[in-house]
Amino acid sequence: MSFNKRIKIKDLLENPTPDEKATLMGWVRTKRSNKHVTFIAINDGSCIQNYQCVADPQLISEDILKKANTGACLKITGTIVHSQGSGQSTEIQASAIEVLGEADPEKFPIQPKKHSLEFLRENAHLRVRTNTFGAIFRIRHQLSFAIHQYFHNKGFVYIHSPIITASDAEGAGETFQVTTLDLKNPAIDEAGQIDFQEDFFGRATNLTVSGQLEGELAAMALSEIYTFGPTFRAENSNTTRHLAEFWMIEPEMAFYDAEDNQNLAEDFLQFVIGYALEHCKEDLAFLDKRAADEDKVKKADQRSELGLLERLSFVTQNEFVRITYTEAIDILKASKPNKKKKFAYPIEDWGTDLQSEHERFLVEKHFKKPVIITDYPKEIKSFYMKLNPDNKTVAAMDILFPGIGEIVGGSQREENLDKLTQRMDELEISKEEMWWYLDTRKFGTAPHAGFGLGFERLVQFVTGMGNIRDVIPFPRTPGNAEF
Ligand code: ATP
Ligand code: MN
Repeated sequence: MSFNKRIKIKDLLENPTPDEKATLMGWVRTKRSNKHVTFIAINDGSCIQNYQCVADPQLISEDILKKANTGACLKITGTIVHSQGSGQSTEIQASAIEVLGEADPEKFPIQPKKHSLEFLRENAHLRVRTNTFGAIFRIRHQLSFAIHQYFHNKGFVYIHSPIITASDAEGAGETFQVTTLDLKNPAIDEAGQIDFQEDFFGRATNLTVSGQLEGELAAMALSEIYTFGPTFRAENSNTTRHLAEFWMIEPEMAFYDAEDNQNLAEDFLQFVIGYALEHCKEDLAFLDKRAADEDKVKKADQRSELGLLERLSFVTQNEFVRITYTEAIDILKASKPNKKKKFAYPIEDWGTDLQSEHERFLVEKHFKKPVIITDYPKEIKSFYMKLNPDNKTVAAMDILFPGIGEIVGGSQREENLDKLTQRMDELEISKEEMWWYLDTRKFGTAPHAGFGLGFERLVQFVTGMGNIRDVIPFPRTPGNAEF
């Protein structure tokens, strides 16, 4: 006999069936009793709403009602009826309740009261049972789905780039080594170094920092591809926007130039944010209110001008600003905070990298819109970016979002073999190790471009969460790999 004959709360709310029998399963959020009945609010994660169960002590034993505490898991069978109360239009009148799993109220950490995000991070294994995290992870799911749908509809091929690689050629970040060598007693070569020839792959390997280079290989045959997978950076940056393990979406397109790349990135971001607005209405309404409540206790100058929903609609309805790095430097140089020496890194010369304080000034104070900054000095960008005719800048782009800073980094790639190898020589990047990458430029090279979107930064923007640790189920950060 099949156990799962339940109806999900989401379906029941969309399609109430008064007078019919139903079985619900889920976890107790709250319980309260008056002289005649006990009300149990139950949540099954299918949506943010709880469903009210009315239990008559004449039908349901005292022992069971005692166990129906916050966190306990119940199977409720009963009749759907119109509700007398004001909070809901229907409710279930229980005829039988089975306790599937108890939760000792003295020990269960998630009680029906406001917990701090720090406390919930320490209880990440249970935090998904709160409204906030339920909403975040349902939205995270919808955004993943929207991303696949967007590229699928455009005919892009989803490529699974490798997670273990032998290259950090991109120089995107510090890597995590992957090894099966005995760390207490590793094989040593003649020079006294660890002998990676004895290692599992016969060479030193690491977790990938980006799937881009492999993505380029695929784009040189399938023309339009995207990756969507985990990436790893052992950078010791304890910020609210960096994780050691995060998910990245990296489209790579043959026959795209820098402007095509910008157009795609803008259209893509507007699509996925629009998708969330359409498909996550209740969860977003909850987070919108949550963000507004958080704002109320902040100092006036730290409050957001727009609410969460307003910010999301704004991005879908307004074109992004596009400026060059050179224009950005001019704006920053002439800006008030620069003149008043308010920046920790004052802008003096053309050529310096933009810090997040500069990015946030441009996005949040100056333009108040998402900004695409293009054509950066070649010295501060990667070797594979296409050199512009000025020989000083490359066809790079960063997309900056309010409250987040950099959300996308991309470029047109250098497709000319000579120019690419010259740049590799200048940066002392091994052409021998990168032979496979250079083959794309030797055989049927083509103009192409692509970008990387940090998925968690997108989820942060859409949910309004200030800390990236709160938009991935089990965050990996320096000193923390619990759960
Ligand atoms: P940042 O300057 O913010 O560290 P980056 O220049 O290192 O970013 P890229 O190497 O261009 O970023 O990576 C592409 C995208 O991946 C970024 O635009 C960002 O959205 C995301 N990203 C980069 N590093 C991290 C990280 N440690 N945690 C989460 N997302 C990240
Ligand atoms: Mn970085």
